[in-house]
Amino acid sequence: MVGTSPAQMTDWLVPGRSLFLTIHIVGIACFAYIVAKRLVPLIRAERDFRFDHTLTRFERVLKYWFGQWKHPRYRLAGILHIFIFIGFILLAARAFSVLIVGVSENFVMPGLSGKVGHFYDIVTDYAATIVFLCMVVAAVRRLVFKPARYSVPAKYGKAHTADAVFLLGLIAILMLADSLFAASMIAGHALQGQPVETLAFLSLPWMFQIAVGSSSFATLWAVNVTAYLVHEVTFYFLLCYRPFGIQFHVETSLFSIYFAKLERGTLKPVRWGVPDERLDEVKSFGVKKFEDFTWKHMLDFYSCADCGRCADNCPANAAGRPLAPRFLTTKARDYAFQHYPIFGKANNSQPLIGGIYSEDEIWSCTTCGACEEECPLLVEYIDKIVDLRRGMIDDGNVPQSLQKPLKALESRGNPYGKMEKKRADWAKAQDFQQSCSVKTLDTKNGANTLYFVDSITSYDDRMQSIGRSTARVLSHIGEDFCILGAAEKDSGHEVRRFGEELLFIALRDHNTDAIKASGVQRIVTSDPHAYNALKHDYKDVPPVEHISQVIAREVMAGKIQFNQVEDESKVYVYHDPCYLGRHNQVYDAPRTVLDAIPGLKRVEMKRSRDRSFCCGGGGLMLFYEPKEEQRMGVLRVRMAAEAGANVIVTACPFCMVNIEDAIKVAGMEGKMSAIDLTELVDLSIAREKCPEECEPATCGG
Ligand code: SF4
Ligand code: SF4
Repeated sequence: MVGTSPAQMTDWLVPGRSLFLTIHIVGIACFAYIVAKRLVPLIRAERDFRFDHTLTRFERVLKYWFGQWKHPRYRLAGILHIFIFIGFILLAARAFSVLIVGVSENFVMPGLSGKVGHFYDIVTDYAATIVFLCMVVAAVRRLVFKPARYSVPAKYGKAHTADAVFLLGLIAILMLADSLFAASMIAGHALQGQPVETLAFLSLPWMFQIAVGSSSFATLWAVNVTAYLVHEVTFYFLLCYRPFGIQFHVETSLFSIYFAKLERGTLKPVRWGVPDERLDEVKSFGVKKFEDFTWKHMLDFYSCADCGRCADNCPANAAGRPLAPRFLTTKARDYAFQHYPIFGKANNSQPLIGGIYSEDEIWSCTTCGACEEECPLLVEYIDKIVDLRRGMIDDGNVPQSLQKPLKALESRGNPYGKMEKKRADWAKAQDFQQSCSVKTLDTKNGANTLYFVDSITSYDDRMQSIGRSTARVLSHIGEDFCILGAAEKDSGHEVRRFGEELLFIALRDHNTDAIKASGVQRIVTSDPHAYNALKHDYKDVPPVEHISQVIAREVMAGKIQFNQVEDESKVYVYHDPCYLGRHNQVYDAPRTVLDAIPGLKRVEMKRSRDRSFCCGGGGLMLFYEPKEEQRMGVLRVRMAAEAGANVIVTACPFCMVNIEDAIKVAGMEGKMSAIDLTELVDLSIAREKCPEECEPATCGG
């Protein structure tokens, strides 16, 4: 018996309508069951407050999910993904209509009848064709060209190539079945003398119509119901198979992006809903077992598309450290699938460190944020890594090389173990005092602005020069500023990212009290780590600026003039410090300053601005010696040389330590040098000659 809709099919064991209704019910029930099982660990997970700022979150869904904002950062893969995504969105209504037609032959999607419906059919004929072609191209890329970022080193598990290609194949079958179904239906209608719509020229349905158009009605009918059955079975198989692997991101990514972290540079609290003053009630800090992750972090594990962009941009991975962020996620996802199986009971959780993660892996991160910047699905890493570190610290698991600086921070307020009273010694150098006088805040000395120096600039002999240059520049622009001197302790920025939350709180509270007591109206710092801490980790302190922002403003206002560059052979390149650039979006101010120096030749490295490559200094890394094949700083110095530069300008004392060291290690002394932006400004400022009666220490000249 032949008909006009698969619902009328009676040839097989059961009538078409009953068969397809059964497939719908079984498919939906299986999918609901699988998703419910996948949600079990999220229900057992730690709390996470992500239900605020509804409008902002919707905007981000529009930008990052619907607008596919980050995908074009990898051009070919990004464009392929955008085509597939648009194709799926366009095909959603068509797929739904096709599903319903199997049980209700006359169903037409509301709003999609008549000319609008015909236009929609033409568009979706092309959409199905483009999605099919994208599947072919993606499969060829995976199997023939094998982009390096998809490979999985043996230590991280097995490659998911077979799974990915299988899924690409299923989607291709879905597109073929859909097109064949449409083509055989149109051909059948035409044979019966019914009015038919034209199919989109050169689309898959159009080609299939040509292929089957001359067949008998019985053949067309057989092709039509077979294509329909294949479409139905593939659709539901795909729906139920996706939660078993990377394709689960199709369902979860929208939620993952909606609930993504909104503020850069911040860290999650030890426990959501537990204020600092009640932290002593928390029995266990950080993440030790899988269920200690928050539900949002578990959602991230499900949402990762395994595209490898995070690892491709991770400096720790590039330097051969035992860390590639992608695998932090895929290992956790595999763990979730194994311990929370679809069939059977959840297994007891094992400790994650020593289980799926190694200690070195977790200590290797510099918290540079390159992974998070790159991820098209806004998967978070820094909070997870810091939580895993908190767990290790809570168990007394502190790397040997970090024990001494941590003790020194506790007892002396700086990682070097130097005396508090020597904290302001950098400002007492005789030749410096002849050109600049730095006030230390006390009951007699007040000021409008606080220069927060932080430990590395206060105590490191080389970095003290950055402190002196900052002070001279502030004097030059007539800023009424002072420092806290012995009353200042380390900002605690690195300590917090290292996982020592209680020590951080002690340092933060001490500095907050000192800053508040000083009565200053604003804070300036030359250290991006201190800047990030004061801006995001501290509460109730005056607004803070990085010195590059202050200088850029003064330059724009014409209050700072520069001398012409004397050495024309120098080619400068700016290295974006992670905590100034990526975490706080200060990219333009330092470049504005450099470009204002007459005659300064400046180039850009390929990896600049939000793709900057970490020097290796973040997260107490100056004191930790990770296992690595090469230094991050050396890689960075080579990037500067490739860009044609011979002077690296940075705006962070941590970067300066690493880059100067890397220049020596790379054997590039004499060919490459490094300078802090503030030092360069201090050297380049066009100062008026002082009158004879001037007091150089206070005139800033
Ligand atoms: S924050 Fe930086 S170092 Fe850490 S995992 Fe991400 S990219 Fe790698
Ligand atoms: S975390 Fe993001 S960038 Fe990394 S592999 Fe997953 S989807 Fe790609």
